[in-house]
Amino acid sequence: MRAELLTAAGQPLIAAELPAPRAGPQQVLIAVRACAVCRTDLHIIDGELADPKLPLVLGHEIIGRVVDKGAEVDRFALGDRVGVPWLGWACGVCDYCRSGRENLCDRARFTGYTIDGGYAELSVTDQRYCFAIDPGYGDVEAAPLMCAGLIGYRSLRMAGDARTIGIYGFGAAAHIIAQIARHEGRRVFAFTRPGDRAAQEFARGLGAQWAGDSTAAPPEPLDAALIFAPVGALVPVALAATRKGGTVVCGGIHMSDIPAFRYALLWEERVLRSVANLTRRDAEEFLALAPRAAVRVATAAYPLARANDALAALRGGALQGAAVLVP
Ligand SMILES: [Zn+2]
Ligand SMILES: [Zn+2]
Repeated sequence: MRAELLTAAGQPLIAAELPAPRAGPQQVLIAVRACAVCRTDLHIIDGELADPKLPLVLGHEIIGRVVDKGAEVDRFALGDRVGVPWLGWACGVCDYCRSGRENLCDRARFTGYTIDGGYAELSVTDQRYCFAIDPGYGDVEAAPLMCAGLIGYRSLRMAGDARTIGIYGFGAAAHIIAQIARHEGRRVFAFTRPGDRAAQEFARGLGAQWAGDSTAAPPEPLDAALIFAPVGALVPVALAATRKGGTVVCGGIHMSDIPAFRYALLWEERVLRSVANLTRRDAEEFLALAPRAAVRVATAAYPLARANDALAALRGGALQGAAVLVP
C-alpha cells in the first residue's frame, strides 16, 4: 500500500510502498477514504511529543470502509463505514480505565502516534475503538469530526454550563465546536491571530456573536474560555477575559511555555485545566450530537501524496477549517 511516512523528527514525510497490514483477532482492516490533518501531527513531526513509533504513519482522523476483519470482530461487517479517532486502545483494567477515564490510561495507544494511522491507503484498528458515522456526512467532511470535533467536544464539556464561551484559535476544532455551542444556546466569542480578518469573518459566519484579535478584550466577561491555539501566552490573556468562577480549558496536546502571571488572574475561583485525549463515551456522544446540531465541516481536500503541502498549509495558518487527505 502507498503511505506517507515519518522516518525521523524534523523531516518531511516520504512516500513509501509498505506491505498491507493484517487484521488481528479484534481488528478491522480499513480502506482509508479520508484522513484529516491535525495540529498534533505537526507536534509529532516537530519532535514535541515523546517517543512516537518510528517509522510512523501519521493520521488519527480516519474515515474508511471495513475490507477485512479478525475472527473476533462482532461490531462491524465488511463494507461498513467507520471512523477512527486518536485513542486506539486502552488496557481496560487500570484505575483510570475502571473509573471512566480511559483517556488517561497509563498503557493507552494512540492512532498515528504510537500505532500507525491513516496517512495511507489501508489502516488496521481495534474494532472497539471504531465508530459508525452518520450517513449525512461525506467521507471528507466526516474526517475532522474524529479529532477536531471530539477534542473540541470534550473541551466544551469541561466548560460546564457556561453561557458565554470564548474560543482562542479559530481553526478546525473551533469551527466545529462553535456550532455545537450555538446549538446549545451558548454565545460564542472568537479570538484569532491579531489582524486575521478572514478567520474573524469565518467565525461570525458560524454564529460567533463577536470576533476579534486575541489581544483584544471581549465586549463582556466570559463564563469560560477554550484555548485551541498552541500558544501558552494565551493562558493569562484568557484568564483575564474570564469572570469570577469561570474556567479556562487548554484543548491542545502541546503548548508553548505559559508565562508567569499574577495570582489575581486565577484567584476568585477561576479554574485552569487541560483536556487530554478522549474516551469512547465522548465519541459516542459527540458523533450522535453533530448531526442533530446540523454541524457542517469546512475542509480543504488534498491527495495523499500532497500530505506535506497539507501540513504546511496548517502550519502557515492558511486554512479555514481542516485539511483532509484523500488516498
Ligand atoms: Zn488503562
Ligand atoms: Zn488530533
